[in-house]
Amino acid sequence: MIKKFQDFLYPFLSGHSFENDDDLFLYIILSGTAVFTALVHAIMLVLFAAANIPVVAYINIVSVIIYIISFVLAQHRKYTSAGLLISLEILCYAATVIMLTGFYTRLIFYFFLVLVMQMTIPYAKYYIKGPVVGLSLILLLVQVYLEGRYVPPIDLGNFKSTFSYFNIGLTFFAMILELSIGNFIKTTIANYHELRVAALENQANTDPLTGLFNRRYADLMFDKIKKDTSDTPWCVAILDIDDFKKVNDTRGHSVGDEVLVELAAVLRQALRKTDMIFRWGGEEFLVLLENIEVDTVFRILEKIRTSLAASETLEKISLHVTVTIGAGIFDRSDVEHSIENCDKKLYIGKNNGKNQVVI
Ligand code: GH3
Ligand code: MG
Ligand code: MG
Repeated sequence: MIKKFQDFLYPFLSGHSFENDDDLFLYIILSGTAVFTALVHAIMLVLFAAANIPVVAYINIVSVIIYIISFVLAQHRKYTSAGLLISLEILCYAATVIMLTGFYTRLIFYFFLVLVMQMTIPYAKYYIKGPVVGLSLILLLVQVYLEGRYVPPIDLGNFKSTFSYFNIGLTFFAMILELSIGNFIKTTIANYHELRVAALENQANTDPLTGLFNRRYADLMFDKIKKDTSDTPWCVAILDIDDFKKVNDTRGHSVGDEVLVELAAVLRQALRKTDMIFRWGGEEFLVLLENIEVDTVFRILEKIRTSLAASETLEKISLHVTVTIGAGIFDRSDVEHSIENCDKKLYIGKNNGKNQVVI
């Protein structure tokens, strides 16, 4: 369920560019708070209008407007202003409505909500949050002082208990949300970050046309493989499409691209999951095969060669394409030499009439 919600959030996140994860966190939490609280005040507006207490209904209209402004500020990445406006609105709303309707409506809990918000949402520096915390304390003390000395002008009558339940329920719920949702958003952002980094890495390592690993990744792989000291036999092969220039010249570059994609498909089909296929150059592919003997490799490469020559996909566009392949043992302690050796075999194959595997 949480995973699903995160998946739902990712596309929304990718539409915006954020400086860093904190920036994104504030954007989500402040925009979310503004929307949520605007809705809450809209509900209160309706309740007070229904209870025929217009003054408080008007105050709620002001609150809704303030939250719309907060939302807009958050959209413009003015997080300090948005957070401060939200904090002050809650304090002023609670203080004003307490003064109008009385001390026993549990509006006092909103002061604590503001305190939690100062602790959990990094919207501003301490010299802004500090005074907000101080103001909450003063307002709490003023309330105690005024109790018994001051008679509020509005008597809520029957509506008093409904309003109290509402305030208790809402502050309780909001407090839980504040404490839990922050972490949830943080993990969502962190996961999203990881996904994004992985996607970028993947992009940097793959060839966009064929989806195969690129040469850059091959070099990274070689560095890694060099460190492997086990004695499993490896083989390497280089494939080069025959007379590919002619395909481009006679049929166009995009048909040439189709051939490259088809050869990539043939390779994927014929090789194992553990084998690595790289687009080595324009129409050259390199394959690394782990834990395999040369004879087996020869058979596999022959199959690849004949599969491409008999490709139905290419036959449909009246093309007959062949490939020459040079292969040999892959000596992990001397990668350069192994590849050079492979290249030599390929060259021999090209000189001997192409369309063949040379081992
Ligand atoms: P040989 O049989 O000796 O290998 O001849 P060839 O024509 O295949 O080799 P050559 O090296 O002369 O030409 C390779 C051609 O591959 C030239 C280049 O335009 C084409 N090529 C390289 N990358 C791409 C690509 O991404 N798409 C397309 N369509 N063509 C490419
Ligand atoms: Mg070539
Ligand atoms: Mg070629």
